[in-house]
Amino acid sequence: MMVRRSRNLMVLPADIPVAWRIAGGRRRYNAARRRARNERRAQITALVLASERPCVATFRQGWGKQLAASLGVHPSVISRDFAAIRETIVLPTPCCKPCARFAAEQRERRRLSSLSLRRSLGRILPPEAVERILRTAE
Ligand SMILES: [Zn+2]
Repeated sequence: MMVRRSRNLMVLPADIPVAWRIAGGRRRYNAARRRARNERRAQITALVLASERPCVATFRQGWGKQLAASLGVHPSVISRDFAAIRETIVLPTPCCKPCARFAAEQRERRRLSSLSLRRSLGRILPPEAVERILRTAE
């Protein structure tokens, strides 16, 4: 059967069963691509989580290109996958040793800063006033 299509590939109303077949084929094709994409993203997510630093793995120079070659897709596909994964991934806390060290340093810095503030205020104010000020500052 000959399929009549207008310029934008819409099938004319006279061929409705043909239109349904074409739409079904397109739906199946898109579904297969969507499945392949989801499987690929799950695979990449697993690799990211297994890496030493999952928080920065998707930014590692050259890894996207390497993955693209091994998965048989264009590097821009991996780039889009990385962007999507960054949006959805849930990292453990702390995600890696450097991040854990950084968080510990930040905690220590805050502790020392509040200690120093408490001491400075303690020199000019009574203890109740210092407590009140520190409570409202938190
Ligand atoms: Zn990290």
